[in-house]
Amino acid sequence: MRLSEAVKREIKQFKKVFARQPEILVLAPGRANIIGEHTDYTGGLVFPAAIDTRIDFLVSGNGSNTVRLYSDTYQESCEFNLDEKLKRTHHWSDYIKGVVCELKKAGYQVDGFNALIGGDLPIGSGLSSSAAFEMAVSEGCAQLFGYAPMDPEKQIKLCRKAENQFVGVSCGIMDQFIIRMGRKHHGLYLDCRSLEYELIPIPSDDLVFVIVYSGVKRGLGATAYHERQKQCERGRLFFNALNKSLRSLRDVNEDLLQVSRENMDPLIFKRCRHVITENTRVKRAVEALRKPDMVLFGELMNLSHESCKNDFEVSCEELDLLVDLARNVPGVLGSRMTGAGFGGCTISLVARNRVDEFERYVGNLYNRTTGIVPEFYITHAEDGVSAVRL
Ligand code: ADP
Ligand code: MG
Repeated sequence: MRLSEAVKREIKQFKKVFARQPEILVLAPGRANIIGEHTDYTGGLVFPAAIDTRIDFLVSGNGSNTVRLYSDTYQESCEFNLDEKLKRTHHWSDYIKGVVCELKKAGYQVDGFNALIGGDLPIGSGLSSSAAFEMAVSEGCAQLFGYAPMDPEKQIKLCRKAENQFVGVSCGIMDQFIIRMGRKHHGLYLDCRSLEYELIPIPSDDLVFVIVYSGVKRGLGATAYHERQKQCERGRLFFNALNKSLRSLRDVNEDLLQVSRENMDPLIFKRCRHVITENTRVKRAVEALRKPDMVLFGELMNLSHESCKNDFEVSCEELDLLVDLARNVPGVLGSRMTGAGFGGCTISLVARNRVDEFERYVGNLYNRTTGIVPEFYITHAEDGVSAVRL
């Protein structure tokens, strides 16, 4: 494998910090959700892809009981001892501690190691640096301590558990799943209840995904995210009380939703309408891809945004502006917010020959209105996590 200049620099940095060579390089991509937002934690359908911005995780064993870490991103070191009871400290090392704890609980060996965390995946911008981080750590340990390849489902669930329980963010399973299972030029059609999945080819000769980071961190997002989860649960309980066979919002169809409207709290109705129609849009988007009918696919992305904005109320002014600007550019088939919302990124499906125009137009007008310089990531669907021995 040819190492990029960035990785060569990280290897040098590793040697400088730890005075030894890294043994393994793990590349863990970020993810963009193409369609199917806020459906994973209700056992619904999603269609994300792995992208070509990623976390680089360089690691080697150190023959001790200490884990020594250096985040190249934060230019900060820290360490912890594996013999002590690991506790959450609201620090980036929580992600590593969380994965280490879960690995040990599952009976995997973890000894001392040195690791550098780098790469170009922006943090807190809705491209799931957290899940990429967890996946990188589990893959690095599996390679280093001799249990690679881990059973994918086990690895995915273990990483999710690290985030849910150790870090304390009750995320769904989508992010870890796509970062483990992503494939170049494919989106992942995932049923978050059964965990059945299918990789669906995405035409990439004439089309690219352009991800735009709004510059707005998802600061208030965590509270609102948990609030949305609770509202979905209230909706689920409402339908479950009508009929026990309706186990999740996934089982509720739009007709039942409509006839139930007058008996529902209007806010819960709106939240449920988003989830239920979003599941339908994911199914339709996958059908559109199979044809392929990319115009319809783009329209469904647009509709998804409207639903996130109006019914689920997880967009924000900046994301709406990016989406509106994107849709003015010829050759844009669809545009929507991606990720949990309240900041973060949008994703647009753009004709390859219009990308320069897209960047110019959206970049200038967004900057003029908000004063923020947005960041553009032009990407295809990429492979999931991978590792090489250095
Ligand atoms: P997102 O997943 O949208 O990027 P999160 O808030 O879920 O945002 O996760 C971001 C957190 O993951 C950071 O606050 C940090 O603790 C950790 N993290 C991600 N990338 C790195 C990195 N390169 N170095 C250290 N910590 C990182
Ligand atoms: Mg995250």
